[in-house]
Amino acid sequence: MPDDAPMTTDSPLRLTERHADEEGTVKYLWTLADGRRVETVFFSHHAGPGQCLSTQAGCAVGCTFCATALQRPARDLTADEIVAQAVGVDRDCAERGAEVPWRFVTLSGMGEPLLNYAHTVEAARRLYEWTSIDVVSATTSGIVPRIYQLADEDTYVQLHVSLHATQDETRRRLIPITRRWGIAEVLKAAGHFATTRERQVIVNYLLFEGVNDSPDDGRRLVELLDPELFEVHLLLWNEIPGFEFRRIGDERVAEFRHLLSGAGLMAKAMPSKGRDIQAGCGQLLAERPA
Ligand code: SF4
Repeated sequence: MPDDAPMTTDSPLRLTERHADEEGTVKYLWTLADGRRVETVFFSHHAGPGQCLSTQAGCAVGCTFCATALQRPARDLTADEIVAQAVGVDRDCAERGAEVPWRFVTLSGMGEPLLNYAHTVEAARRLYEWTSIDVVSATTSGIVPRIYQLADEDTYVQLHVSLHATQDETRRRLIPITRRWGIAEVLKAAGHFATTRERQVIVNYLLFEGVNDSPDDGRRLVELLDPELFEVHLLLWNEIPGFEFRRIGDERVAEFRHLLSGAGLMAKAMPSKGRDIQAGCGQLLAERPA
């Protein structure tokens, strides 16, 4: 890893807490200059070691399954604050003698990256220049105009779209911002991205018991997604006390995946990481609500 950090200032982050689990997943809590807080996760999966960076402190999208939505008001991070998370994790690994050649970065921690568009794209550009990483990806809840804009950027950011439902009514319950853009509009924009960049878009589908996990949901998903343009990642929700949803079992995930694969749609069941240290999908919360 090069020594020259890809930031315009000294690190704008201070490491405040660090939690690790037995699998090697590490969650970092950082304090920013104005006292706001964000989290970053370092983990390994089939694609190799990677980092999940935050693009906002808090999030205004308000997903009803996500702890980050409780952290308000949302504040955009600067490109410096985004890349400083990667630099900080890299330094921490080196200091512990645990340096790992991380292979990818996902801008899928706290916040909606496409609501902090310019800083997200600038951070991706600097990360590509600084390291030899394979790919920078970002997960969006479906900010349609920004998906079209991202398709035309010089910097490639692999797109993940959080769909989580096959009917607009269910999606509005899970992701309130989708009152503005329905499933058809989101998938049209994502399909445009895939066609323009000649790379498949990943559709994230978080399964909730009794909400979006029925065979009818699976069949509707097959009808909605062109297998040439989309691959599905099935995710297990990490339960958060006080939230209304229930995590489904591994065998139900396997059945759902089988239904999609049997119809010709590429679908992977993604492992849960960092659940015990509240570092998993939907668990990041750096500032406790009063
Ligand atoms: S899931 Fe993502 S977009 Fe939704 S509230 Fe959480 S951080 Fe924001």
